[in-house]
Amino acid sequence: MHAFLDAPAVARTLAPDEPVILNRPHAAARAARFFATKFPGKSLYAVKANPSPDLVQILWDNGITHYDVASIAEVRMVRGVLPDATLCFMHPVKTASAIREAYFKHGVRTFSLDTIEEVEKIVEATTDAEGNRATDLRLCVRLRVSSEYSELSLASKFGVDVADAGELLQATRQVADWLGVCFHVGSQAMTPFAYVQALERARAAIAAAGVVIDMVDVGGGFPSSYPGMEPPPLEDYFAIIHRHFEALPIAYNAELWCEPGRALSAEYNSLIVKVEKRRGDELYINDGAYGALYDAAHVAWRFPVKAIGRVDKHGDAERSSELKEFSFYGPTCDDADFMEGPFLLPADIKAGDWIEVGMLGAYGAAMRTAFNGFGGGEVVLAQDEPMASLYTGRKDPRVSDNVVSLR
Ligand SMILES: *Cc1c(COP(=O)(O)O)cnc(C)c1O
Repeated sequence: MHAFLDAPAVARTLAPDEPVILNRPHAAARAARFFATKFPGKSLYAVKANPSPDLVQILWDNGITHYDVASIAEVRMVRGVLPDATLCFMHPVKTASAIREAYFKHGVRTFSLDTIEEVEKIVEATTDAEGNRATDLRLCVRLRVSSEYSELSLASKFGVDVADAGELLQATRQVADWLGVCFHVGSQAMTPFAYVQALERARAAIAAAGVVIDMVDVGGGFPSSYPGMEPPPLEDYFAIIHRHFEALPIAYNAELWCEPGRALSAEYNSLIVKVEKRRGDELYINDGAYGALYDAAHVAWRFPVKAIGRVDKHGDAERSSELKEFSFYGPTCDDADFMEGPFLLPADIKAGDWIEVGMLGAYGAAMRTAFNGFGGGEVVLAQDEPMASLYTGRKDPRVSDNVVSLR
Protein backbone atom coordinates (compact mmCIF):
# COMPACT_ATOMS: atom_id res chain seq x y z
CA MET A 1 0.00 0.00 0.00
CA HIS A 2 1.35 3.44 -0.98
CA ALA A 3 2.19 5.80 1.90
CA PHE A 4 1.67 9.55 1.71
CA LEU A 5 2.17 12.41 4.12
CA ASP A 6 -1.43 13.63 3.85
CA ALA A 7 -4.45 14.07 1.58
CA PRO A 8 -2.98 16.92 -0.54
CA ALA A 9 0.02 14.70 -1.27
CA VAL A 10 -2.34 11.93 -2.42
CA ALA A 11 -4.26 14.34 -4.69
CA ARG A 12 -1.05 15.75 -6.19
CA THR A 13 0.40 12.34 -6.91
CA LEU A 14 -2.65 10.34 -7.98
CA ALA A 15 -5.07 13.05 -9.22
CA PRO A 16 -7.72 10.44 -8.40
CA ASP A 17 -10.93 10.21 -10.45
CA GLU A 18 -12.31 7.66 -7.97
CA PRO A 19 -12.66 8.11 -4.20
CA VAL A 20 -9.53 7.22 -2.21
CA ILE A 21 -9.65 5.77 1.30
CA LEU A 22 -6.83 6.92 3.59
CA ASN A 23 -5.78 4.54 6.38
CA ARG A 24 -4.15 5.95 9.53
CA PRO A 25 -2.77 2.95 11.44
CA HIS A 26 -1.16 5.21 14.07
CA ALA A 27 -4.56 6.65 15.00
CA ALA A 28 -6.20 3.23 15.39
CA ALA A 29 -3.23 1.97 17.41
CA ARG A 30 -3.53 4.95 19.77
CA ALA A 31 -7.27 4.34 20.27
CA ALA A 32 -6.63 0.64 21.01
CA ARG A 33 -3.94 1.43 23.58
CA PHE A 34 -6.24 3.97 25.22
CA PHE A 35 -9.06 1.44 25.72
CA ALA A 36 -6.70 -1.41 26.59
CA THR A 37 -5.01 0.60 29.35
CA LYS A 38 -7.73 2.99 30.59
CA PHE A 39 -11.05 1.18 30.45
CA PRO A 40 -11.49 -0.46 33.88
CA GLY A 41 -12.27 -3.86 32.37
CA LYS A 42 -12.05 -5.68 29.04
CA SER A 43 -12.62 -3.90 25.71
CA LEU A 44 -14.03 -5.91 22.78
CA TYR A 45 -13.80 -4.40 19.31
CA ALA A 46 -17.22 -4.43 17.60
CA VAL A 47 -16.12 -5.60 14.16
CA LYS A 48 -19.14 -4.33 12.23
CA ALA A 49 -17.98 -0.71 12.60
CA ASN A 50 -15.08 -1.46 10.25
CA PRO A 51 -14.33 -5.08 9.30
CA SER A 52 -10.94 -4.34 7.73
CA PRO A 53 -8.49 -7.21 8.39
CA ASP A 54 -5.66 -4.64 8.56
CA LEU A 55 -7.49 -2.71 11.27
CA VAL A 56 -8.24 -5.87 13.26
CA GLN A 57 -4.53 -6.74 13.18
CA ILE A 58 -3.55 -3.23 14.36
CA LEU A 59 -6.01 -3.41 17.27
CA TRP A 60 -4.66 -6.84 18.28
CA ASP A 61 -1.07 -5.57 18.13
CA ASN A 62 -2.07 -2.76 20.50
CA GLY A 63 -3.81 -4.73 23.21
CA ILE A 64 -7.34 -5.58 22.00
CA THR A 65 -7.70 -9.34 22.57
CA HIS A 66 -11.51 -9.79 22.33
CA TYR A 67 -13.74 -9.21 19.30
CA ASP A 68 -17.51 -8.72 19.12
CA VAL A 69 -18.68 -10.48 15.96
CA ALA A 70 -22.24 -10.60 14.66
CA SER A 71 -22.21 -12.93 11.66
CA ILE A 72 -20.43 -16.12 10.65
CA ALA A 73 -18.53 -14.16 7.98
CA GLU A 74 -17.15 -11.86 10.70
CA VAL A 75 -16.24 -14.92 12.79
CA ARG A 76 -14.31 -16.46 9.87
CA MET A 77 -12.58 -13.18 8.98
CA VAL A 78 -11.32 -12.39 12.49
CA ARG A 79 -10.34 -16.02 13.14
CA GLY A 80 -8.40 -16.02 9.87
CA VAL A 81 -6.43 -12.93 10.87
CA LEU A 82 -6.12 -13.60 14.61
CA PRO A 83 -5.89 -17.32 15.50
CA ASP A 84 -5.58 -16.55 19.24
CA ALA A 85 -8.23 -13.86 19.66
CA THR A 86 -11.33 -14.44 21.81
CA LEU A 87 -14.43 -14.11 19.65
CA CYS A 88 -17.82 -13.28 21.16
CA PHE A 89 -20.92 -13.80 19.03
CA MET A 90 -23.00 -10.88 20.27
CA HIS A 91 -25.90 -10.87 17.80
CA PRO A 92 -28.98 -11.98 19.80
CA VAL A 93 -30.59 -13.67 16.75
CA LYS A 94 -28.35 -16.20 15.04
CA THR A 95 -28.88 -19.13 12.69
CA ALA A 96 -28.20 -22.58 14.14
CA SER A 97 -25.57 -23.35 11.48
CA ALA A 98 -23.66 -20.17 12.34
CA ILE A 99 -23.67 -21.06 16.05
CA ARG A 100 -22.52 -24.62 15.28
CA GLU A 101 -19.66 -23.54 13.02
CA ALA A 102 -18.59 -20.79 15.44
CA TYR A 103 -18.55 -23.20 18.40
CA PHE A 104 -17.04 -26.33 16.85
CA LYS A 105 -14.77 -24.83 14.19
CA HIS A 106 -13.69 -21.43 15.52
CA GLY A 107 -13.66 -21.94 19.28
CA VAL A 108 -16.39 -19.40 20.05
CA ARG A 109 -17.83 -19.90 23.56
CA THR A 110 -19.55 -16.56 24.24
CA PHE A 111 -22.98 -15.90 22.74
CA SER A 112 -25.63 -13.28 23.44
CA LEU A 113 -29.41 -13.82 23.40
CA ASP A 114 -32.65 -12.14 24.36
CA THR A 115 -35.21 -14.97 24.28
CA ILE A 116 -35.58 -18.45 25.72
CA GLU A 117 -35.89 -19.77 22.13
CA GLU A 118 -32.37 -18.50 21.42
CA VAL A 119 -31.06 -20.25 24.56
CA GLU A 120 -32.58 -23.51 23.31
CA LYS A 121 -31.14 -22.94 19.83
CA ILE A 122 -27.64 -22.34 21.25
CA VAL A 123 -27.84 -25.45 23.46
CA GLU A 124 -28.99 -27.62 20.55
CA ALA A 125 -26.46 -26.23 18.05
CA THR A 126 -23.57 -26.82 20.47
CA THR A 127 -24.56 -30.40 21.37
CA ASP A 128 -22.13 -32.86 19.79
CA ALA A 129 -22.88 -35.86 17.54
CA GLU A 130 -22.99 -38.21 20.55
CA GLY A 131 -25.62 -36.03 22.19
CA ASN A 132 -23.32 -34.47 24.79
CA ARG A 133 -24.31 -30.95 25.74
CA ALA A 134 -21.69 -28.22 25.87
CA THR A 135 -20.53 -27.52 29.43
CA ASP A 136 -18.48 -24.44 28.63
CA LEU A 137 -21.07 -21.99 27.27
CA ARG A 138 -20.64 -18.34 28.22
CA LEU A 139 -23.99 -16.69 27.66
CA CYS A 140 -24.97 -13.02 27.84
CA VAL A 141 -28.55 -11.87 28.23
CA ARG A 142 -29.16 -8.69 26.25
CA LEU A 143 -31.34 -6.16 28.06
CA ARG A 144 -33.41 -3.51 26.34
CA VAL A 145 -32.30 -0.06 27.46
CA SER A 146 -33.09 3.47 26.40
CA SER A 147 -31.24 5.21 23.55
CA GLU A 148 -32.33 8.71 24.55
CA TYR A 149 -28.80 10.02 25.07
CA SER A 150 -27.42 8.68 21.80
CA GLU A 151 -27.34 10.03 18.26
CA LEU A 152 -28.28 6.65 16.73
CA SER A 153 -30.83 4.44 18.47
CA LEU A 154 -30.30 0.74 19.07
CA ALA A 155 -33.19 0.51 21.48
CA SER A 156 -36.06 -1.04 19.57
CA LYS A 157 -34.68 -4.11 17.86
CA PHE A 158 -32.99 -6.21 20.52
CA GLY A 159 -33.12 -6.82 24.22
CA VAL A 160 -35.43 -8.44 26.76
CA ASP A 161 -37.61 -6.12 28.80
CA VAL A 162 -36.39 -5.63 32.35
CA ALA A 163 -39.74 -7.02 33.57
CA ASP A 164 -39.01 -10.37 31.84
CA ALA A 165 -35.25 -10.40 32.33
CA GLY A 166 -35.26 -12.12 35.73
CA GLU A 167 -36.90 -15.22 34.36
CA LEU A 168 -34.66 -15.34 31.26
CA LEU A 169 -31.52 -14.93 33.40
CA GLN A 170 -32.63 -17.82 35.64
CA ALA A 171 -33.31 -20.09 32.65
CA THR A 172 -30.02 -19.15 30.99
CA ARG A 173 -28.10 -19.75 34.22
CA GLN A 174 -29.25 -23.43 34.08
CA VAL A 175 -27.28 -24.09 30.89
CA ALA A 176 -24.46 -21.53 31.10
CA ASP A 177 -21.07 -22.11 32.65
CA TRP A 178 -20.71 -18.35 32.90
CA LEU A 179 -23.48 -15.76 32.74
CA GLY A 180 -23.36 -12.14 31.66
CA VAL A 181 -25.70 -9.24 31.22
CA CYS A 182 -25.23 -6.93 28.22
CA PHE A 183 -26.92 -3.94 26.62
CA HIS A 184 -26.27 -1.20 24.07
CA VAL A 185 -27.16 2.42 24.85
CA GLY A 186 -27.14 3.44 21.16
CA SER A 187 -24.28 4.73 19.07
CA GLN A 188 -22.49 8.04 19.74
CA ALA A 189 -23.75 8.41 23.32
CA MET A 190 -23.13 12.08 24.04
CA THR A 191 -23.10 11.78 27.83
CA PRO A 192 -21.89 9.10 30.27
CA PHE A 193 -25.30 9.34 31.92
CA ALA A 194 -26.58 6.97 29.18
CA TYR A 195 -24.60 4.17 30.87
CA VAL A 196 -25.77 5.10 34.37
CA GLN A 197 -29.37 4.70 33.34
CA ALA A 198 -28.67 1.39 31.59
CA LEU A 199 -26.73 0.05 34.58
CA GLU A 200 -29.73 0.89 36.77
CA ARG A 201 -31.84 -1.38 34.53
CA ALA A 202 -29.19 -4.07 34.78
CA ARG A 203 -29.35 -3.76 38.56
CA ALA A 204 -33.12 -4.29 38.53
CA ALA A 205 -32.79 -7.34 36.27
CA ILE A 206 -30.03 -8.88 38.37
CA ALA A 207 -31.96 -8.30 41.59
CA ALA A 208 -35.09 -9.88 40.12
CA ALA A 209 -33.16 -12.94 38.91
CA GLY A 210 -31.29 -13.66 42.13
CA VAL A 211 -28.64 -15.68 40.27
CA VAL A 212 -24.84 -15.36 40.14
CA ILE A 213 -23.71 -12.90 37.44
CA ASP A 214 -20.15 -13.32 36.15
CA MET A 215 -19.96 -10.36 33.78
CA VAL A 216 -21.58 -7.04 32.92
CA ASP A 217 -21.04 -5.75 29.38
CA VAL A 218 -21.91 -2.07 28.84
CA GLY A 219 -21.76 -2.47 25.04
CA GLY A 220 -20.71 0.15 22.51
CA GLY A 221 -21.85 3.73 22.12
CA PHE A 222 -18.58 5.42 23.07
CA PRO A 223 -18.47 8.56 20.94
CA SER A 224 -16.05 10.06 18.52
CA SER A 225 -15.70 13.72 17.53
CA TYR A 226 -17.72 15.22 14.64
CA PRO A 227 -18.83 18.77 13.76
CA GLY A 228 -21.45 19.81 16.29
CA MET A 229 -20.91 16.60 18.29
CA GLU A 230 -17.90 17.07 20.53
CA PRO A 231 -18.30 14.69 23.44
CA PRO A 232 -16.87 14.88 26.95
CA PRO A 233 -13.57 13.02 27.50
CA LEU A 234 -13.79 9.21 27.46
CA GLU A 235 -12.14 9.17 30.89
CA ASP A 236 -15.40 10.62 32.26
CA TYR A 237 -17.36 7.71 30.75
CA PHE A 238 -14.92 5.15 32.14
CA ALA A 239 -14.95 6.63 35.66
CA ILE A 240 -18.73 6.83 35.87
CA ILE A 241 -19.23 3.33 34.42
CA HIS A 242 -16.70 1.90 36.86
CA ARG A 243 -18.31 3.51 39.87
CA HIS A 244 -21.80 2.28 38.99
CA PHE A 245 -20.53 -1.20 38.08
CA GLU A 246 -18.84 -1.51 41.48
CA ALA A 247 -22.15 -0.78 43.18
CA LEU A 248 -24.02 -3.65 41.44
CA PRO A 249 -25.13 -6.70 43.46
CA ILE A 250 -22.71 -9.09 41.71
CA ALA A 251 -19.81 -11.36 42.65
CA TYR A 252 -16.63 -9.56 43.74
CA ASN A 253 -14.77 -11.18 40.85
CA ALA A 254 -17.39 -10.35 38.21
CA GLU A 255 -15.91 -8.84 35.04
CA LEU A 256 -16.70 -5.54 33.35
CA TRP A 257 -16.70 -5.50 29.55
CA CYS A 258 -17.38 -2.93 26.84
CA GLU A 259 -17.77 -3.26 23.05
CA PRO A 260 -16.59 -0.07 21.32
CA GLY A 261 -16.94 -0.01 17.53
CA ARG A 262 -17.01 3.65 16.60
CA ALA A 263 -14.50 4.86 19.21
CA LEU A 264 -11.85 2.34 18.11
CA SER A 265 -12.25 2.87 14.37
CA ALA A 266 -13.52 6.39 13.56
CA GLU A 267 -10.08 7.97 13.36
CA TYR A 268 -8.66 5.19 11.19
CA ASN A 269 -10.01 6.44 7.82
CA SER A 270 -10.69 9.56 5.85
CA LEU A 271 -11.81 9.78 2.24
CA ILE A 272 -10.80 11.91 -0.73
CA VAL A 273 -13.68 12.73 -3.09
CA LYS A 274 -13.66 14.71 -6.31
CA VAL A 275 -16.09 17.51 -7.14
CA GLU A 276 -17.60 16.68 -10.55
CA LYS A 277 -20.01 19.59 -10.79
CA ARG A 278 -21.18 22.61 -8.83
CA ARG A 279 -24.77 23.91 -8.91
CA GLY A 280 -25.09 26.88 -6.54
CA ASP A 281 -24.35 25.60 -3.07
CA GLU A 282 -24.69 21.94 -4.12
CA LEU A 283 -21.61 19.92 -5.00
CA TYR A 284 -21.81 16.72 -7.05
CA ILE A 285 -19.12 14.42 -5.66
CA ASN A 286 -18.09 10.82 -6.39
CA ASP A 287 -19.11 9.14 -3.10
CA GLY A 288 -22.46 9.20 -1.33
CA ALA A 289 -25.44 7.32 0.04
CA TYR A 290 -24.29 3.98 -1.40
CA GLY A 291 -20.66 4.57 -0.53
CA ALA A 292 -18.62 5.54 2.50
CA LEU A 293 -20.91 8.55 3.06
CA TYR A 294 -23.91 6.32 3.83
CA ASP A 295 -24.53 7.95 7.23
CA ALA A 296 -24.16 11.47 5.80
CA ALA A 297 -27.10 10.68 3.51
CA HIS A 298 -29.26 8.38 5.59
CA VAL A 299 -29.01 9.93 9.05
CA ALA A 300 -27.69 13.40 8.07
CA TRP A 301 -24.42 12.72 9.91
CA ARG A 302 -22.02 15.64 9.63
CA PHE A 303 -18.44 14.65 8.87
CA PRO A 304 -15.61 17.20 8.91
CA VAL A 305 -14.42 18.32 5.46
CA LYS A 306 -11.40 20.10 4.05
CA ALA A 307 -10.92 21.37 0.50
CA ILE A 308 -7.72 20.13 -1.05
CA GLY A 309 -7.82 22.61 -3.91
CA ARG A 310 -7.18 22.43 -7.57
CA VAL A 311 -3.77 20.95 -7.99
CA ASP A 312 -1.60 21.97 -10.91
CA LYS A 313 2.08 21.69 -11.65
CA HIS A 314 2.77 24.68 -9.42
CA GLY A 315 1.18 23.00 -6.42
CA ASP A 316 -2.03 23.93 -4.59
CA ALA A 317 -3.83 26.90 -6.10
CA GLU A 318 -4.79 29.93 -4.06
CA ARG A 319 -8.03 29.40 -2.25
CA SER A 320 -10.69 31.74 -0.98
CA SER A 321 -10.55 31.95 2.79
CA GLU A 322 -14.25 32.65 2.99
CA LEU A 323 -16.21 29.51 3.98
CA LYS A 324 -19.70 28.73 2.80
CA GLU A 325 -22.23 25.98 3.59
CA PHE A 326 -22.63 23.29 0.93
CA SER A 327 -24.65 20.12 0.52
CA PHE A 328 -23.55 17.14 -1.56
CA TYR A 329 -25.02 14.89 -4.23
CA GLY A 330 -23.45 11.43 -4.60
CA PRO A 331 -22.56 9.81 -7.94
CA THR A 332 -25.54 7.47 -8.47
CA CYS A 333 -28.68 8.38 -10.42
CA ASP A 334 -30.82 8.15 -7.29
CA ASP A 335 -32.38 11.33 -5.85
CA ALA A 336 -31.86 9.87 -2.37
CA ASP A 337 -28.12 10.06 -3.01
CA PHE A 338 -28.06 13.43 -1.25
CA MET A 339 -26.19 14.67 1.81
CA GLU A 340 -27.63 17.77 3.33
CA GLY A 341 -24.71 18.65 5.59
CA PRO A 342 -24.09 21.54 5.89
CA PHE A 343 -20.47 21.05 4.91
CA LEU A 344 -18.29 24.14 5.35
CA LEU A 345 -15.98 24.66 2.37
CA PRO A 346 -14.25 27.56 0.59
CA ALA A 347 -16.75 29.74 -1.30
CA ASP A 348 -14.86 29.35 -4.59
CA ILE A 349 -14.77 25.53 -4.62
CA LYS A 350 -15.51 24.14 -8.07
CA ALA A 351 -15.56 21.12 -10.36
CA GLY A 352 -12.17 19.44 -10.49
CA ASP A 353 -11.35 20.19 -6.84
CA TRP A 354 -10.87 17.46 -4.27
CA ILE A 355 -12.28 17.32 -0.75
CA GLU A 356 -11.04 15.26 2.18
CA VAL A 357 -13.85 13.95 4.37
CA GLY A 358 -12.61 13.01 7.84
CA MET A 359 -13.60 10.57 10.60
CA LEU A 360 -14.87 7.88 8.23
CA GLY A 361 -13.30 4.86 9.91
CA ALA A 362 -16.52 3.90 11.69
CA TYR A 363 -19.58 3.04 9.58
CA GLY A 364 -17.91 4.76 6.61
CA ALA A 365 -15.37 2.67 4.77
CA ALA A 366 -17.50 -0.37 5.78
CA MET A 367 -20.62 0.87 4.00
CA ARG A 368 -19.40 1.00 0.39
CA THR A 369 -21.45 -0.83 -2.23
CA ALA A 370 -21.06 -1.28 -5.99
CA PHE A 371 -24.52 0.15 -6.75
CA ASN A 372 -24.73 1.83 -10.15
CA GLY A 373 -21.13 0.87 -10.92
CA PHE A 374 -19.56 3.09 -8.30
CA GLY A 375 -17.68 2.00 -5.17
CA GLY A 376 -14.20 1.46 -6.59
CA GLY A 377 -11.05 3.37 -5.74
CA GLU A 378 -7.69 3.02 -4.08
CA VAL A 379 -6.70 2.59 -0.44
CA VAL A 380 -3.51 4.33 0.72
CA LEU A 381 -1.68 5.10 3.96
CA ALA A 382 -1.56 8.61 5.43
CA GLN A 383 0.90 9.72 8.09
CA ASP A 384 -0.75 12.92 9.35
CA GLU A 385 -3.23 13.26 12.19
CA PRO A 386 -6.96 12.58 11.72
CA MET A 387 -9.12 15.72 11.51
CA ALA A 388 -10.19 15.21 15.12
CA SER A 389 -9.01 12.91 17.88
CA LEU A 390 -10.17 11.91 21.32
CA TYR A 391 -6.76 10.44 22.03
CA THR A 392 -4.16 13.14 21.50
CA GLY A 393 -4.44 14.19 25.13
CA ARG A 394 -4.67 17.85 24.23
CA LYS A 395 -7.87 18.27 26.18
CA ASP A 396 -7.65 18.33 29.96
CA PRO A 397 -9.81 15.37 31.02
CA ARG A 398 -10.97 17.22 34.11
CA VAL A 399 -12.48 20.03 32.09
CA SER A 400 -15.50 19.01 30.14
CA ASP A 401 -18.09 21.27 28.63
CA ASN A 402 -21.32 19.37 28.54
CA VAL A 403 -20.95 16.39 30.85
CA VAL A 404 -23.85 15.91 33.22
CA SER A 405 -22.42 16.10 36.71
CA LEU A 406 -23.13 12.94 38.65
CA ARG A 407 -20.70 13.30 41.49
C1 LIG B 1 -22.93 -1.96 16.81
C2 LIG B 1 -22.65 -2.65 18.09
C3 LIG B 1 -21.55 -2.25 18.88
C4 LIG B 1 -20.68 -1.06 18.55
O1 LIG B 1 -21.36 0.12 18.77
P1 LIG B 1 -20.61 1.55 18.65
O2 LIG B 1 -21.70 2.52 18.89
O3 LIG B 1 -20.03 1.61 17.29
O4 LIG B 1 -19.57 1.58 19.71
C5 LIG B 1 -21.31 -2.96 20.04
N1 LIG B 1 -22.09 -4.00 20.42
C6 LIG B 1 -23.15 -4.42 19.68
C7 LIG B 1 -23.94 -5.57 20.14
C8 LIG B 1 -23.47 -3.74 18.50
O5 LIG B 1 -24.53 -4.14 17.78
